[in-house]
Amino acid sequence: MRPDADLIIAGAGCAGLSALWFASQRAPSSTEILVIDRRREPSDDRTWGFWGPPDAPFMNLADGTWKSVQVRFPDWQTTQVIGDCGPGVDGRVYARVRQRDFDAAVQAVIADRPNIRFIETEILDVIDEPDGGCVVTSAGEFRSPLVFQSVQLSPQDRSAPVRHPLRQHFGGWEVCTELPIFDPDIATLMDFDTAQNSGDQFDTAFFYVLPESRNRALIEYTVFSLDPQAPEFYDAHLQSRLAALGGGEIRIERREYGVIPMEDRVLHQRSGAHIWNLGTVGGRTKPTTGYTFQRIHTQTQHLVNTWLEHGYPLELPPAPRRYGFADRTLLNILHRHPELGRPIFEKLFRTSSIDTVLTFLEESSSLRRDARLFARLPWWPFLRAAAHEWVAKLATKIQVVRNR
Ligand SMILES: Cc1cc2nc3c(=O)[nH]c(=O)nc-3n(C[C@H](O)[C@H](O)[C@H](O)COP(=O)(O)OP(=O)(O)OC[C@H]3O[C@@H](n4cnc5c(N)ncnc54)[C@H](O)[C@@H]3O)c2cc1C
Repeated sequence: MRPDADLIIAGAGCAGLSALWFASQRAPSSTEILVIDRRREPSDDRTWGFWGPPDAPFMNLADGTWKSVQVRFPDWQTTQVIGDCGPGVDGRVYARVRQRDFDAAVQAVIADRPNIRFIETEILDVIDEPDGGCVVTSAGEFRSPLVFQSVQLSPQDRSAPVRHPLRQHFGGWEVCTELPIFDPDIATLMDFDTAQNSGDQFDTAFFYVLPESRNRALIEYTVFSLDPQAPEFYDAHLQSRLAALGGGEIRIERREYGVIPMEDRVLHQRSGAHIWNLGTVGGRTKPTTGYTFQRIHTQTQHLVNTWLEHGYPLELPPAPRRYGFADRTLLNILHRHPELGRPIFEKLFRTSSIDTVLTFLEESSSLRRDARLFARLPWWPFLRAAAHEWVAKLATKIQVVRNR
């Protein structure tokens, strides 16, 4: 049977559209691409904060960039200019891209490409078959030798055990205040000057502020815990924070609520021979921070480039294993001892520069620098959590051998 396209992109969110954009830049105009999503209209339900050099993918779409970033704690704070962290990372900025701008920019690029088709329908399943991938939808089945999908966890990942099922959940307002309370030159990545509990339950909680002017900002209240809350929960915290800052009357122009998985489960980049998992379902969310945007483009660019060079995509090489272990260890602490979250973040930023932390989070630091960063943290909780993680990993391996 003739395939419906050379490439099917199932899911046209951040990852699907990123793949489509890179493919539209590099693939010959004869390459047939079919995009499937339940919605085609640009969406405005999220904004993406990320950092990178001025020529990072989609940095041109940023509607705000900041060179100075801040972290705050009840008794201490630091504001630093980022982008001066040694060779190779000069010029880094913190930036924000709105989903509606990203969606519109990609849609505009593909608008006059007859080789790219978009079908608006519900995707029911994505199946690997002997000769290609099949996307089952309410509008029928579509087949292609290659499918990039970002709509569902792969079958093997769905059943994988999750030991730390944390969530980063948040609510944010784009707000105009009567009185000038923001500094438009400084992005606040984490402001921990807030209670670290919901009732008698400890959580790790902070505010995040991206200001546009002295009276206008996106301000979010973020919690790392097991259970997301109703919008009123975040609204109440935002309301009282703006009141405490002395903002006077406020006008809420846009609201944003979200949940991002922070899990120890390792998600696979592919399901079978023909299906590649992109974005969140492809494991591109950094488990301990929720940052995904920039990591998505690294993956999609790599898959598209290798597909066009070799005729099939090559897996994005994994980061050194120490980063996965560090993520699991920190998740263990945040899950089992949430009361230690804020003190650990404070110690981290008191003993390492924000640039050093960002480079570590990019998983591109040297072993020596990483060792120095960890050596300055409180060793007992990390040692205890690392031992738990190591034993859990060993137990899983023994179980796998027994099951064979
Ligand atoms: C509110 C919010 C804010 C975030 N902010 C940041 C940030 O500041 N920085 C950062 O790095 N990360 C952020 N993230 C995390 C991450 O970057 C985003 O979740 C990102 O959109 C993930 O991209 P994706 O393509 O994997 O998933 P999505 O963008 O969610 O795309 C999935 C697509 O699949 C479609 N789809 C799903 N199921 C079906 C179906 N059954 N049938 C048809 N279509 C379907 C959806 O319509 C959607 O278009 C945020 C997440 C949220 C939720």
